[in-house]
Amino acid sequence: MEGERYAFLVEWYDSLAGIVRRYNFLFYPKDNSVEMIDVKNKRIFLKRTKEESIRLDQCYIGSSVNLHGRQLKFVEYSDTFTKIKLSMAKEKTLAIFKPDIMKKMPLLLEILCTEGFQICDMKTVVLSKSAAEGFYREHSAKPFFRTLISFMTEGPIMALSLLADNAVSRWRALIGPTNSADARSQAPDSLRARFGTDQTRNACHGSDSVASAERVEYFFKILQ
Ligand code: UDP
Ligand code: MG
Repeated sequence: MEGERYAFLVEWYDSLAGIVRRYNFLFYPKDNSVEMIDVKNKRIFLKRTKEESIRLDQCYIGSSVNLHGRQLKFVEYSDTFTKIKLSMAKEKTLAIFKPDIMKKMPLLLEILCTEGFQICDMKTVVLSKSAAEGFYREHSAKPFFRTLISFMTEGPIMALSLLADNAVSRWRALIGPTNSADARSQAPDSLRARFGTDQTRNACHGSDSVASAERVEYFFKILQ
């Protein structure tokens, strides 16, 4: 039984020859082995070998992996199995560090990295009143709306587009319950438990669905 095989088109810039070489990169999770086939001449470039340094979660489109001193860029999935299996799992979400935790930025970025989130984009903005109202429009009738808007506009915020497997639910789990006091009792390791104050000043935002994660556009395209 062979087990699963994932296939990618990878590129390597051969600086000596001054050309980009393309390979079919095959990864076998069963024994963590890699095989590479030269796309142009269809010859085996690397015969199937166990590669301890390669992990499946490093293999996604846009990723770059170093193998035996060659920087391989993952440009496409090479078969339907790989495409369906992997492109489904990777997700982007919108995260916001709210004004109350901007001073903790170095620690927050370190946490993102250790938790396996890749930062695709990041932007510091001072929200205008109308931008904050627009972002939180579904809460406009709630009693806490004015408090929320004045908090979100009191200083700069950091908006981040994060990429990870199941990023939406994983980021929500990492930030914890809305109210920081609940977070401290229910999820003491969460970011809101550690860095938040109360139900308004709760350190972070996280999209609650893939659809609302698309609001990432709001920060990276619409807001200046
Ligand atoms: N909020 C508040 N009072 C409340 C509930 C929420 O000030 O009673 C604020 C809080 O900053 C929260 C934001 O409004 O993060 C959006 O509320 P939501 O219920 O969508 O919580 P979230 O999705 O952020 O956990
Ligand atoms: Mg919400």
